[in-house]
Amino acid sequence: MIAKFFAAALSLTLIASPVASEPLARVLFGAKSAPSEQAPSAIGFYSRGCAAGLQAMPESGPTWQAMRLSRNRNWGQPEMLSYLQDLSRFAASLPGWKGLYIGDISQPRGGPMTGGHASHQIGLDADIWMLPPKRLDLSRSEREKISSISVRTADQRSVNGNWTPQHMALLRHAASDPRVDRIFVAAAAKIAMCNTAPRGDRAWLQKIRPIYGHNTHFHVRLKCPPGARYCETQKPTVAQLSKGGDGCDDTLMWWVTDYLNPPKTAPKPPKGPPKKTAKTYVMSDLPSQCRAVLSSR
Ligand SMILES: [Zn+2]
Repeated sequence: MIAKFFAAALSLTLIASPVASEPLARVLFGAKSAPSEQAPSAIGFYSRGCAAGLQAMPESGPTWQAMRLSRNRNWGQPEMLSYLQDLSRFAASLPGWKGLYIGDISQPRGGPMTGGHASHQIGLDADIWMLPPKRLDLSRSEREKISSISVRTADQRSVNGNWTPQHMALLRHAASDPRVDRIFVAAAAKIAMCNTAPRGDRAWLQKIRPIYGHNTHFHVRLKCPPGARYCETQKPTVAQLSKGGDGCDDTLMWWVTDYLNPPKTAPKPPKGPPKKTAKTYVMSDLPSQCRAVLSSR
């Protein structure tokens, strides 16, 4: 029993610190239960950074509830909290929706996470459940147990009966907000919106980006807030720039063709050392300001 415990502890230590002097950033940030006592600031990039002075999204409000409170990921930049509250008020105007169920935003000090997301590191990403809230008086334990719903079929190619015009209205409103940089959602949902959005006002569709997963929630990414000097703006890809349209094109269809049916040719082995990710970053991989975020009271 004791030997087993030691073996488990040893293997945990080995996983947590490949180099004894450089602990993993996700372990360090994951251990912080409160935000830094600093002015709010998004530092670095969505998938490689941290966040000073984050604020808690109130666990419940008139038009929202934060879900899975045990994860302690309901922390965001002030701009994110006001955006989510604004969007939840709009959601409450939709038939069948009392507001929004809000999933992960960021850890108290942002940074890489011990499990789950590649981004959500600077307090400007948030996940919103596809499940229309019928109640906004869920207890803490109910918020751990209930699950969202998937809006697409098992073969991933199209939306299912859970997808409603209200989902489209919500995503359209969410994407039309000038504070939003982009929104990630399952390709099937974007295809459905491409097929039904009226001609004319389709600019908002460009901000909706197809991605794997994201069938039970959508992911809103805000732009760097004005004056956020350490926040790295996301550059649009060349394809987005040249198309300049609504993104209802071949790239979108790739997600339900080649992505799901990969060509049988062997992939080329990647060149060079493996790319570092949220799982492997150490502090020297993050912007230098993140050390102060971590050590601040
Ligand atoms: Zn997300």
